Amino acid sequence: MTYVVTENCIKCKYMDCVEVCPVDCFYEGENMLVIHPDECIDCGVCEPECPADAIRPDTEPGLDAWLTLNADYADKWPNITVKRDPPEDAKAHDGEAGKLDKYFSPAPGQGD
Ligand code: SF4
Ligand code: SF4
Repeated sequence: MTYVVTENCIKCKYMDCVEVCPVDCFYEGENMLVIHPDECIDCGVCEPECPADAIRPDTEPGLDAWLTLNADYADKWPNITVKRDPPEDAKAHDGEAGKLDKYFSPAPGQGD
């Protein structure tokens, strides 16, 4: 089992999650974060910290595609452990539908 980052992180990227993870298993893309499924110890500490409600346990149904996306990009993107300022338009995109199709970027973020 692992926790996974899902759609509402895209363009929100508040990064409250990275400060609480005891094993530093968040990785940063241009406009979202992912969790490395082989590094996550399933502690669940990050889930309630996410203001966008984007972190879910992979035991919830329907998350297979997100688990694959987290695993793929955790190998490609840089590690992030320190929170930075969120994007200025983060609130405007909170809860918006279809963000994966509209905005997902495979480009890496800056990391720590
Ligand atoms: S706190 Fe939530 S929205 Fe923010 S970066 Fe972490 S998973 Fe994404
Ligand atoms: S569940 Fe725990 S180990 Fe996994 S990403 Fe969240 S804080 Fe890190």
